[in-house]
Amino acid sequence: MENYSFIIAMGTLLFLAAVLIVEYVIRRRELNKDLVQNRQKQQQLAAYSAELKDLKRELARKTEVAEKLPQITKKLTEKLPPDAYPAVAVRGVKEFFHAKKVGYFAPADGAIDYTLVVGAGFPPDWLGKVRIDPGDGILGLALQKKIVVSRTDPNSLGRRTSQRSLETLGVTPDFAAPVFGISGTAGALVVAGCPFPLEQEKTYISTLADLLSTMLQNAALLDSSRNSTWVDHLTGVANRLYFMQRFESEIRRTENYKQALALFMFDIDEFKMVNDTHGHHAGDVVIRKMAEIVKKNTRSSDLLARFGGDEFIMLITSTTEEQAASFAEKIREMIASTDMAIPGVEAPLRITISGGLAMFPTHGQSTTELFRVADEALYESKRNGRNRILVASSTGLHIGINQDQEADPGARNQENVPDDSGPGLVEFALGEPGGNLRD
Ligand code: GH3
Ligand code: MG
Repeated sequence: MENYSFIIAMGTLLFLAAVLIVEYVIRRRELNKDLVQNRQKQQQLAAYSAELKDLKRELARKTEVAEKLPQITKKLTEKLPPDAYPAVAVRGVKEFFHAKKVGYFAPADGAIDYTLVVGAGFPPDWLGKVRIDPGDGILGLALQKKIVVSRTDPNSLGRRTSQRSLETLGVTPDFAAPVFGISGTAGALVVAGCPFPLEQEKTYISTLADLLSTMLQNAALLDSSRNSTWVDHLTGVANRLYFMQRFESEIRRTENYKQALALFMFDIDEFKMVNDTHGHHAGDVVIRKMAEIVKKNTRSSDLLARFGGDEFIMLITSTTEEQAASFAEKIREMIASTDMAIPGVEAPLRITISGGLAMFPTHGQSTTELFRVADEALYESKRNGRNRILVASSTGLHIGINQDQEADPGARNQENVPDDSGPGLVEFALGEPGGNLRD
């Protein structure tokens, strides 16, 4: 009997022990699960906080860019002698990117090799002395392809460098950005030691190198004593020859940087009447005064040229269609409301203009196509009553035009022709009807 009780007691004990062990194992498992979950949560939290830090850094950089970009743009668009622009750009770019080194490299006198023209953070004895092969390293890639190259671009990784590249001299550029002068590549901006993520910064260096190019070109153009072949002598603005050259390179650049460009063509309305009524000299004064009004209201990064006679043409860079259209409209209004005092003519004269606007790449992919559609839009402005700006339709202005009307080659010289433009002819039209010469 005693034995029996003992066995029962032992059995119960063993059973209780087994229950305790099972419970312990289950608890342990749950605990482990909790531990894993906690660890995962901690990791997630750390990832979130890193992401938040990145976002904060990005926001701080964006705020800084929003503040600094206009400042550097302002400095670069001031009127300076051509030789002064690279130094302004180098200083501005160094501050903008917080970079360790920024340099403007250009061909050494009479040589194919490039040298340091202006530098910040580079050894002083590099100035004018160092010789860099323009076909080598990241700088060489930028010069050959005529685009901004960054250190992290796939095509610049593992790029071969010889004895005379920046890389072999111990400087691996974060960016190399070509700069274009009037007759092609003038030099390149090199940035090294930029602390920000390069992918995000690339568009800024593109913009700044572009601005430097434009300013160098415009400064050279304005220095008309040296460049009289590019200047229209009556108005002092660029001539057709210069415009054509710039137009090609602007299209290429706009394409590379995936921006938009506007071509604005305009022509004085009934200008023959000014000549016929007041003489050719008065006509000259009117052309000159009109060019002055437009020039005064044009950004220094845009290009105004006299295309011939009373016709002008303008390149509006880095713009949207709406901005370009509102700018063109502003110019039209300004001209239409200006009293022009002409020596020898009693009452001041007033003129109006008609214009056509075409956007690259929406309305045309080449200079020829853009000229054609802008000219067609201008032609339509004349036909629709003058004193207005029309924007080319993306499908081409010829679509939807009444063939009978289109066939009239003299339409530009006719008195106001009734508006017969059908729907879909233009994206939108600006300006007021009428537009005869007023005095
Ligand atoms: P539309 O509204 O159709 O443009 O009529 P328009 O009379 O202005 O005709 P168009 O633009 O075809 O003619 C421009 C005239 O400008 C023809 C030419 O006699 C004159 N012209 C061209 N170059 C000069 C110049 O340098 N000085 C002056 N005074 N007149 C010029
Ligand atoms: Mg005219």
